[in-house]
Amino acid sequence: MMQRYDTIIVGGGIIGASLAFELVHAKQSVLLLDRQEPGREASWAAAGTISPAPDPGSLAIVPLGLESFRLYPEFIAAIEQASRMCAGFHANGAMELFLEPQGEGERDSRLRELSSHDIRAEALSLEEARRREPGLGPAVRAALWIADEADVDPRVVTGVALAAAANAGVEIRGDSEVQAVVVENARCEGVLAVHAKGIPTDSHRKVQISEKIAARNVVIAAGWRCAEIAGVESFAPTLPVRGQMVALGPVPGAPHTILRCEHGYMAPREDGRVVVGSTLEPGITQKHPTPAGLRKILRAATEMVPALGEAAVLEAWAGLRPDSLDHLPIIGPTDVQGLFIATGHYRNGMLLAPATAKYLSEWIVQGKISNYLAPFSPLRFANARGVTRGATRSH
Ligand SMILES: Cc1cc2nc3c(=O)[nH]c(=O)nc-3n(C[C@H](O)[C@H](O)[C@H](O)COP(=O)(O)OP(=O)(O)OC[C@H]3O[C@@H](n4cnc5c(N)ncnc54)[C@H](O)[C@@H]3O)c2cc1C
Repeated sequence: MMQRYDTIIVGGGIIGASLAFELVHAKQSVLLLDRQEPGREASWAAAGTISPAPDPGSLAIVPLGLESFRLYPEFIAAIEQASRMCAGFHANGAMELFLEPQGEGERDSRLRELSSHDIRAEALSLEEARRREPGLGPAVRAALWIADEADVDPRVVTGVALAAAANAGVEIRGDSEVQAVVVENARCEGVLAVHAKGIPTDSHRKVQISEKIAARNVVIAAGWRCAEIAGVESFAPTLPVRGQMVALGPVPGAPHTILRCEHGYMAPREDGRVVVGSTLEPGITQKHPTPAGLRKILRAATEMVPALGEAAVLEAWAGLRPDSLDHLPIIGPTDVQGLFIATGHYRNGMLLAPATAKYLSEWIVQGKISNYLAPFSPLRFANARGVTRGATRSH
C-alpha cells in the first residue's frame, strides 16, 4: 500500500528545514522534497543578519521578527543538539551609519523608530563609533548602535537545520520537483513529484519518473518558485528579487560587527571574510552577479570602511529572494483543507525561520491559530482579486 505521510514539505531552504524539524518533534512523519540539493537557493545566498529592526516598508513583520529574534537562541540550541554541529550564531549587535550631511537628524529619527518597537539601540558619538570600529571612513557622519541584532552564516545554519531534521527522522529527498498539489473534494491529498532515475542498463541515461505521494498535510515552502506549482499560484503569487553579494578577504580595519548604511551592509564571518551586500533586482531569475551590481555594493562598503578597497575578492554570487505581491510573508492554511503555505519571507527569511516554524507547526499539528501569523494569510491574494475557486480541483 502507498505510504501516506503526516506532512510533506515542498522546499528544503531554511523555512522548510526549520518547519520539518519542528513537525518531527511533534511526532509527525515528515517527507521533505526539493527539486535540487536542499539548501542551495535563497538560503544559500543570504547575508545572515538576524535583524528585527524594521526596513522601510516592512513594519508589518516587526512583531513576528521580534518574536523570531527572541526564539533564535533556543532554535539554534535545538538544531545544534540534534545535528551535533555548530550553527555559529553570534548575538553581537550591529552599527548603523549615516553618510549624508544631515546624518545626525536621520540617526535620531531612526533611534526613535527603534525605541518605539522596544528594540535596544543607542546613539554613538563618532569617537565612540571609531573606537569600536577603527576602520570607519571619513564619509561617516553619524552612528547608531543596535544591541538587538545577531548574525549567522546562512549556508552553515541551513545545513545544520537540515542535518538536525534528518537526524530527528525527517525523510529528505533532493532532485524531486513537485509540479502540482493533488486536490480531491477540496482536500489536499498529496503532491505530484517528478525525479530523474538512471536506467540500469545505461549509466548515462536518465528517465523522468512521475509519482503521486500521499500526505494528510502539504506545506509549500518552495521560495520564489511557489507560484510555479499547479494549485498553489492563487495562494502564493511569489516573485523573485535578485540580490548580489561579494565575499572579501581579511584586511586590517575590517569590521568586527555588522555595519549598515542606506546603500548597503557588510557582515564579518568567523574566518575573517567580510560578506557585502546587496542589490534589489525584481523579476530577474538569472543567478549571476553583474559588474553594475558589484560596483554598487562595493562602493557602499568602501565608503563605510575604505580599507576594504584593498581586500581580496574571494567570491561573488547572487540569490533570488522570495517576494510576494505586497512584499509580506505568506504563511498559514489555505481554504483547501490540508494545504499550507510558508513563503514570501523576502529579505527576512533567516530572521523569520524560527517563529514561522514554531507557529505554523502548532497550527498544523494542534490547530492552534497564531496571532503572529494572522497578517500573512495565503487567502489575502485570492480575496483581494475576488477569485472564487471551484470546490473540487485535481492536479
Ligand atoms: C542576497 C540575499 C541576502 C539576504 N540576506 C538576508 C539576511 O541578511 N537576513 C535574512 O533574514 N534574510 C536574508 N535574505 C532572505 C533569505 O535568504 C530568504 O528569505 C530565505 O532564504 C527564504 O528561505 P526559503 O526556505 O523560503 O527559500 P529558499 O532558500 O529559496 O528555499 C526554497 C527551496 O525550495 C526548492 N524548490 C523550489 N521549487 C520547488 C519545487 N517545485 N519542488 C521541490 N522543491 C522546490 C528550492 O530548490 C529551494 O531549495 C537574503 C536573500 C538574498 C538573496
